[in-house]
Amino acid sequence: MKIFESKNNCCGCSACEQICPKNAVKMEPDNEGFLYPVIDGSLCVECGACKNVCAFQNDYEKNKSQKAYAVKHKDFDTRMTSRSGGVFIAISDFILEKNGSVYGAAFDDDFSVCHIRTTNKSERDRLKGSKYVQSDVKDTFTSVKNDLKNGMYVLFSGTACQVAGLKNYLKNTDTSKLYTCDLVCHGVPSPKIWKEYLSHCEKKYKGKVTNADFRDKTLGWKAHQEAIWIDNNKHILREYTYLFYENDIERPSCYNCKYTNLDRPADFTLADFWGIDRIVPNFSDNKGVSLLLINSDKGCELFNSINNEIDFVECDINKSIEPNPNLSRPTAKPKSREAFWIYYSKKGFEKTLKKYYKKIVIKRIKKRINAKYKSIVKKV
Ligand SMILES: Cc1cc2nc3c(=O)[nH]c(=O)nc-3n(C[C@H](O)[C@H](O)[C@H](O)COP(=O)(O)OP(=O)(O)OC[C@H]3O[C@@H](n4cnc5c(N)ncnc54)[C@H](O)[C@@H]3O)c2cc1C
Repeated sequence: MKIFESKNNCCGCSACEQICPKNAVKMEPDNEGFLYPVIDGSLCVECGACKNVCAFQNDYEKNKSQKAYAVKHKDFDTRMTSRSGGVFIAISDFILEKNGSVYGAAFDDDFSVCHIRTTNKSERDRLKGSKYVQSDVKDTFTSVKNDLKNGMYVLFSGTACQVAGLKNYLKNTDTSKLYTCDLVCHGVPSPKIWKEYLSHCEKKYKGKVTNADFRDKTLGWKAHQEAIWIDNNKHILREYTYLFYENDIERPSCYNCKYTNLDRPADFTLADFWGIDRIVPNFSDNKGVSLLLINSDKGCELFNSINNEIDFVECDINKSIEPNPNLSRPTAKPKSREAFWIYYSKKGFEKTLKKYYKKIVIKRIKKRINAKYKSIVKKV
């Protein structure tokens, strides 16, 4: 039995592992650090459950985005500690108030990223903020199923491929109390590179990582840099961010993503509201605005119940998604990707970071000079 033919066709959601009735499928990291299902032939009975559940290779439940809103959580601290406008907190508070469970991506003790189950606000706050690395969903699909069977309200948040995987996994379960949020996603970077980067920071600053923020907002929502705390001292850095945006470290299936459109697997889609200054002038204060797409009647009902927690403006859906490229196409696979990973496997992370960071900085400086030159020529 083969679950996938090419790495372009496996998003690593782990539905196949969790559905296997014989525990014959295990998610294991490849040499880039991404998880893929591996079948133990001695346990497999060739029932085909693993292939049938795959949302990436088969079809998925499609909800057409119906409405678009610009949203800011009314609580300023909530917004500052969230990636965008903090709409996720308002949605998840609704579920927690019904004694439900909220699932999403959190840092583990060693700052690796994995999905966890939370049932109160302080645990749920661990889900706040975007972690620009692929989250390991572990056994959360099984746990969601148990919660639903026990009659609980459940909110599951994650990338669109994770939500689609969960929905296929739950095909024979009553999902009337399940709510889902997917993210607009540029692509998920390698967990191995993230770990290497943290070790690099520990060596460089001679201490232990005590906190991390992939997108520190102190210079504003639009600025993009990471913050790494070593022994509680904060360092604002750009090395990981630059690697992320060069697209060499994303999962192979991300360049082949089938969720970069308005056929969404979830009830809600969350994103940064790029272009807000043009679309709703004076709504943004550069502290974060969420783009919220509502994709189902269930989502619409929940949204009506959280109105008091948020400031919002309804927007034209087509205009709202236009500045967000990953709602119309997947991130392109760079020509440099293969060379990046060959260099890394031969020379290790430190040399790779040094080489690629220098290259990226030079590229960015050249781009800025070119843009300045063009604007001067235009003026003349
Ligand atoms: C890898 C990645 C790429 C992204 N790319 C884009 C993009 O191209 N354009 C865009 O507009 N927005 C993108 N986003 C989404 C955006 O950054 C915000 O997460 C989103 O707008 C929600 O913001 P918020 O303020 O409501 O909540 P926040 O508190 O910022 O977000 C928390 C939510 O994000 C989930 N989450 C965080 N990290 C992960 C992860 N690694 N995997 C799965 N779920 C995660 C949590 O479970 C939680 O539900 C991306 C997010 C991630 C994780």
